[in-house]
This record gives sequence, C-alpha cells and structure tokens, in this order.
Amino acid sequence: MESNDYNDPAMIGGCSVPIRVNRKSKPEPTIVKVNEIPIGSSEVVIIAGPCSVENHEQLMETAKAVKSAGGVILRGGAFKPRSSPYNFQGLGEEGLVLLKEARKVTGLPIVTEVMDTRLVELVAGYADILQIGSRNMQNYPLLKEVGMLRKPVLLKRGMMATIEEFLLAAEYILNQGNDQVILCERGIRTFETSTRNTLDLGAVPMLKHLTHLPVIVDPSHGTGHRWMVPSMAKAAVAAGADGLIIEVHYKPEEALCDGQQSLSPAEFAKLMADLKKIAQAVGREIY
Ligand code: PEP
Ligand code: MN
Repeated sequence: MESNDYNDPAMIGGCSVPIRVNRKSKPEPTIVKVNEIPIGSSEVVIIAGPCSVENHEQLMETAKAVKSAGGVILRGGAFKPRSSPYNFQGLGEEGLVLLKEARKVTGLPIVTEVMDTRLVELVAGYADILQIGSRNMQNYPLLKEVGMLRKPVLLKRGMMATIEEFLLAAEYILNQGNDQVILCERGIRTFETSTRNTLDLGAVPMLKHLTHLPVIVDPSHGTGHRWMVPSMAKAAVAAGADGLIIEVHYKPEEALCDGQQSLSPAEFAKLMADLKKIAQAVGREIY
C-alpha cells in the first residue's frame, strides 16, 4: 500500500489524517469504557484530583472531595515530568500504592502518568487509564509500548504539536492494536505569556471532526490560573468536549506542584454544579 493510502490529505487544508484515527474510516464515535464509565458518549466525564500524589492524607482527602462533588475518575501523578530536576519528582511506586488505596476507598478509577517504557508494566498494574504527558507525545517507543496494552490511554497534546502531529501520535497507539485512546487538549505554547499555555479550544471541534476518538480538555494546565479554570472548563463543555481533567487539591496553597492552578474542594463543587447547566444547554449530561 502507498503511504498516501493511510492518509486523507483532502480532509482539511494542510492536515492529513492517518487511517486508524480517521473518522472517515470509522464514522461512529469510539467510546472508551473505564469500568462502566463511557468516555466519548453523550455524557461528559469529569476527571479530577491533585497534580501529584504527595502523601496519604492529601490524596485521601482530595479523592473524597472529588467524589462527593461528582467527579468520577481520580487523577494523580506518581511519576512527574518536572521542568527542573530539583523540584518534587513524585513518590514513584509509593504514589501508585496510595492511588490504589484511594480507588479502594472511593471506588473511583485512577489515571496516572507513565514516562518511561521500562515502567509501563508497573504503572499498568495499578492504573485504570495510563496518561502519556505532553512532553512525551512524540516519544514513539513509549507510544508503541502502551499501544501493546489493552487498557485505556489518555494522550495529552504536545505543547508544540499541531493537530496533525497529535493525530499521528494517536495513530502509533492504535497501530499496535490498542484503540482505547482518549485525546486531551491541554494548551499549546504560543507568544502569549499571561497564561501558562494557550488553551486551544478550537482543537475540540476540529478533533471531533477529524477523528472518532474521544476528546477531553485540561483547563488547569491550559491556563495555569485557578481563577480561569471554571470559565475554560465551561467553555470546553460548550465546545463539545467529552470530558475534563481538572486539578483539585484539598489545600491548594500547600501543594507541592501546580497549587496555583488547582481548585479547592469548594471551588470544584461549585464548578460541577455550573457544568451540569452548560452540559444540558448543549444537549448533554454530566456522567
Ligand atoms: C499532568 O497532567 O500531570 C501534566 C504533567 O500535564 P501535561 O503533560 O499536560 O503538562
Ligand atoms: Mn500539574
């Protein structure tokens, strides 16, 4: 087969869409099921939790707050991709053990990042969804490794990746036989410095147009400011996102990582109530 047969250059100006992720090759949406939770259906799925797992109390208190406000999947990093080697790097396997306990206590499935091919088996032994972070979106050996699993993968858009590069990264995972991929828009790097990243909400309808895979939005890393998170979370749902991943910390001011963009439990509960109204206004429900 010619390499062009895998692409659809006519689909959209300048962006060719590889075959396995292309909506033309599979018009019906892919619904990624995490236990009973359908990601990519008419219901909007809210994932929340701390940037990093820090200790027992922090994770359990935050997880309970997420659950009681209506979050249905718990996020938390155990292996953290920090820009500085001197910053908190995460608890490693100890963090995974705490996430497992939080899942037992709350019943919430867990999503956590894997950064290294050598750790895929370990992390997959704990996680319900494996996260590939922005910095690793083009780590092709890692994409192939999680492609060999039969477990959901949350693929975050690289901070300098075009939509085409993002879809090609997803294609690597599908090409290994794992079609349970959730795409996550988390902001891209632009000339703008007032926000941590420029949240590209236009990517939501574009990706929904080009691919059958579910699309979620991370308004926390997408803005870097706690006070902006509710606005952009609501805008993302209005734009057609299938879910959100939001940083919540039981004491944001004490967080070891990303406290400035983490919602308090009260802020998260208020947002959940508002999201219900936005979802209804666009013909959807919050799962
Ligand atoms: C995260 O979600 O924990 C994270 C590090 O985000 P990103 O990869 O989008 O920077
Ligand atoms: Mn973070």
